[in-house]
Amino acid sequence: MYGAGDVRVENVPDPAIVEPTDAVIRVVRACICGSDLWPYNSMARSDTGQSTGHEAIGLVEEVGADVRTVKRGDVVVMPFAISDGTCEFCHEGLQTACVHVAFFGNSGMNGAQAEALRIPYADGTLYPVAVGEDDALMPSLLTLSDVMGTGHHAAVVAKVAPGKRVAVVGDGAVGLCGVIAAKRLGAEQIIVLGRHPDRIALAREFGATDVVSERGAEAVERVKELTGGHGVHSVLECVGLDQAVQTAIEITRPGRAVGRVGVPQHQAIPDAMPSFFGNITIGGGPAPVRAYIEELLPDVLDGHIQPGRVFDRTVGLDGVPDGYRAMNDRESIKVMVKP
Ligand SMILES: [Zn+2]
Repeated sequence: MYGAGDVRVENVPDPAIVEPTDAVIRVVRACICGSDLWPYNSMARSDTGQSTGHEAIGLVEEVGADVRTVKRGDVVVMPFAISDGTCEFCHEGLQTACVHVAFFGNSGMNGAQAEALRIPYADGTLYPVAVGEDDALMPSLLTLSDVMGTGHHAAVVAKVAPGKRVAVVGDGAVGLCGVIAAKRLGAEQIIVLGRHPDRIALAREFGATDVVSERGAEAVERVKELTGGHGVHSVLECVGLDQAVQTAIEITRPGRAVGRVGVPQHQAIPDAMPSFFGNITIGGGPAPVRAYIEELLPDVLDGHIQPGRVFDRTVGLDGVPDGYRAMNDRESIKVMVKP
């Protein structure tokens, strides 16, 4: 990506092992993320460009001398963040705070919308799965590299529990996975805030019980009507814009929680007074998806959850620029890349 709206497909040098803890994967599937649309709309022009993509399933082609848990030929989930697997934060299951954390396709680090990629700290970063590279579950497995783990994180931070009322702000792929996560954790009512008919239809199939398509004060009023006047126990904020965060806080029942996973587009969190007087917990951040794979994988493998349904288009590498356009124009929910 060389600037807003400027995505190009180029030949670059093949990745190679640099450190003994590295692996090189051939990318079997990658995808375009809603968070990739922020730079797609706002990135300043750059002469060097930024390699993009942070979600992938790979086939391990080569490993460094110190790699122990993955080997050549393994199919692996590649979470969006690298993590060493050994520091205190990794041991606590917060790999996105790893002392060696870095994010694929960001800040000069190569991205996964590519044929191959070097993976630092392969043992800590990659998660091997016992499937073939053309397994029918590939789309759902791919979501474990980001959007399903991220939706789950929002639900965990928002303290979703059996019998509770939940709202999901945003109907993008993460919001849709948030609906799956909320249902999976036993929520009784799941209100999705969104307005795109294709996404809303899928949200309902995933378990949303109510839809609120209004915005701002009207959305808050609608949610309150749907919840006996007091709001929901848990809000999954999956957008990151000021108004979405504000709505999330204002529909939260006093004493309950907002889980934020939408990448914030503003420096401050709005509504300091209402959230203070409502005793509302506001938490969240980049999901430690590496930690959640263990919990979510069995439900993907047995078909109990089907987050791969968020993909409604598949392109080759040459189709990536148009894939960005399609997601940005809301013509596609999420684009899968099969290099
Ligand atoms: Zn670590």
